[in-house]
Amino acid sequence: MDTLLRALIDALGIDHVLTRAEDVAPYVSDWRGRYRGRARAVVRPASTAEVADVVRICHATGVPLVPQGGNTGLCGGATPSEKGDAVLMSLGRLNRIREIDVDNNTLCVEAGCTLAVVQAAAAEHDRLFPLSLASEGSCTIGGNLSTNAGGVQVLRYGNARELTLGLEVVLPDGRVWDGLRGLRKDNTGYDLKHLFIGAEGTLGIVTAAVLKLFPRPKARATAWAAVTDPAAAVTLLGRLRARCGDRVTAFEIVGRSALELVLKHIPGARDPLTTQAAWSVLVELTDTMNDGGLAELLEAELADAIEAGQVADAAIAASLMQTEALWALRENISEAQRIEGISIKHDVSVPVSRIPRFLERAERVLRAAWPGVRIVAFGHIGDGNLHYNLSRPEQENNAAFIARTSEVNRIVHDLVTELGGSISAEHGLGQLKRGEVLRYKSEVEMDLMRAVKHALDPRSLMNPGKVL
Ligand code: FAD
Repeated sequence: MDTLLRALIDALGIDHVLTRAEDVAPYVSDWRGRYRGRARAVVRPASTAEVADVVRICHATGVPLVPQGGNTGLCGGATPSEKGDAVLMSLGRLNRIREIDVDNNTLCVEAGCTLAVVQAAAAEHDRLFPLSLASEGSCTIGGNLSTNAGGVQVLRYGNARELTLGLEVVLPDGRVWDGLRGLRKDNTGYDLKHLFIGAEGTLGIVTAAVLKLFPRPKARATAWAAVTDPAAAVTLLGRLRARCGDRVTAFEIVGRSALELVLKHIPGARDPLTTQAAWSVLVELTDTMNDGGLAELLEAELADAIEAGQVADAAIAASLMQTEALWALRENISEAQRIEGISIKHDVSVPVSRIPRFLERAERVLRAAWPGVRIVAFGHIGDGNLHYNLSRPEQENNAAFIARTSEVNRIVHDLVTELGGSISAEHGLGQLKRGEVLRYKSEVEMDLMRAVKHALDPRSLMNPGKVL
């Protein structure tokens, strides 16, 4: 047995150092099945001290480390390279809720807790942890923070970065930074937690976090509305925010082709409207006051929007079952698209006001360049974030379709950049967009990112081949 494996087994015990091909296999490919790598071993530490031991061993022997949470990332960030020289660290056993401070509205959790477990821990104390993604049963807090995850409630509560007060991180040399402060005010120099949030495991391993909690909403009203076009959706969002303020919790747009895929592939999915509109929005209002009236408020706003010609038709959920059915239409789009087959995906953002311009221009240019291509667009329009995906024209084969990826990336990403947007709104860069980002960030910005990486990880052992 080589000295690396011996040292890892001494640190973690033989049961938590996996080397057999069948044990390692689930960890070395990604959720979409797009990336497949190899690893010298998969290690599963259960405490911050064990994480630090492994990092020190890898640092001393010059071995790269790839951190992994729930492995639900969509850009290959948690998949090791094919070289097979790295150790993959799965954080799933680091899963304790360390502390809940109800008066401070904070929760301290370990990185391997799934998002659903953290939401449930908050709910047990009549609090809300508002981060919410379709992958919440599997994704972990460590992965959420390392990708600065967004999801469906960013509009009201912000993304993972905005929900974090403190962090504990094992640095690339094995030292532990204890920044687990539950403070809303702390101006004592650089706010270091922000370096690690969104770093996709390239600067250190997040082992625990102090998260913000909020009052738990008691009332909820959800509607599905067919909008005249994306511009009408933006106008409706503005109207709702002006009239209902912070109660507007989610505002998602779904293009007809995305809805059709869900209706085709997801058992039990039903179109809530008879109007076969090109665009629909899923709107949700919530309130901490349990006085009812929220559904009436939403109904009145939608009636005004129908009068103004922005909405063609709408359905308001009348029960929890109907609410869940509406959300299932939105949350199953990725799964339906996976079943449909290969697709070219974009996760982009532009200022909300420019969404209609983006959609109109992207479609015009793509249809001219590639007649028959199917555009599957949906996403968090309230945050200016669209998942702008392309599915294969019926008559084309997979190889010919995928061969055009760079050509369509250029069309979509150039347009996004021209409109002042980002080529990765919430999924990160990972391996997928590592090359692409070089085209769109300035040399100054790339130099700053490289300087930060070099300062923390001069030997480039933390998740090499990702982000930079
Ligand atoms: P992983 O996939 O395991 O890792 C992601 C990255 O973080 C990798 O670079 C990895 O190295 C790093 N990492 C993981 N844990 C740590 C740690 N403890 N310390 C340091 N680095 C670490 N994302 C959104 O933002 N919004 C959505 O609405 C959304 N919807 C999704 C829906 C579906 C059906 C799926 C499959 C994915 C969706 N995602 C979404 C993407 C994904 O769920 C998120 O990126 C999530 O935050 C990843 O968490 P994870 O634990 O699975 O991380």
